[in-house]
Amino acid sequence: DYILDKAYFIGVIEDLVVLAEEKKDYFIQLDSAIGDGDHGMNLSIGFREVNKNLEQWKTEDINTIFKNSGTALLDKVGGAAGPLYGGFFMKFGLPVKGKEEVTFDEFIEMMESGVAIIEKRGKAVVGDKTMVDTLRPAVDALRKAYKEEGLSPKDAMKKAAEVGAAGSDSTIPIIAKKGRAMRLGERAIGHRDPGSASSAAILEVFYKNMP
Ligand code: ADP
Ligand code: MG
Ligand code: MG
Repeated sequence: DYILDKAYFIGVIEDLVVLAEEKKDYFIQLDSAIGDGDHGMNLSIGFREVNKNLEQWKTEDINTIFKNSGTALLDKVGGAAGPLYGGFFMKFGLPVKGKEEVTFDEFIEMMESGVAIIEKRGKAVVGDKTMVDTLRPAVDALRKAYKEEGLSPKDAMKKAAEVGAAGSDSTIPIIAKKGRAMRLGERAIGHRDPGSASSAAILEVFYKNMP
């Protein structure tokens, strides 16, 4: 049976730390166009804080590692993305509390749990030009690809990442109904939502690390 072990999840977090640095300028650039320009900095600060403590969390179970990471993001990151991504990580491991490894069915429930709290906190739906435009279609595609279309776990996650990237693309031609870009009205048209871009990059990390 297909299993995602703790090493997978730790590898994901380590790569998210790297991602936050590598894409910092890109996220800053996107957020400068239709926000306040801090999205890249917010993620960098948050994941640096995660990285500071990750080594000592490694003996904990999967849920605790993500809960601690989420708390770090929540505590250190201001703005919208801190509570939203913080919430994602706080809730991500909840369906597998106490476990050291998870099945792919459980992994799908983890993703659903994380995305659901972002939707709940942000009250955004698909089409509002936020990270939800990436995450909701991605997690729906993940479930469908694995449970209905019979794709392998890794191919299902690849599909989810691709659908998420397309979701981020879909934010470009629309106005924002949530977040700072809302105030810009039509001037937001033609610009990618920064949170949708970081979410797509995060999904890619979950995919690439899969065995
Ligand atoms: P801030 O806008 O407070 O400066 P960031 O720049 O770090 O925070 O994050 C902005 C991103 O947060 C947006 O690009 C969008 O994807 C996401 N976002 C903002 N408000 C919401 C919301 N209500 N629901 C979901 N996502 C949101
Ligand atoms: Mg910002
Ligand atoms: Mg800000």
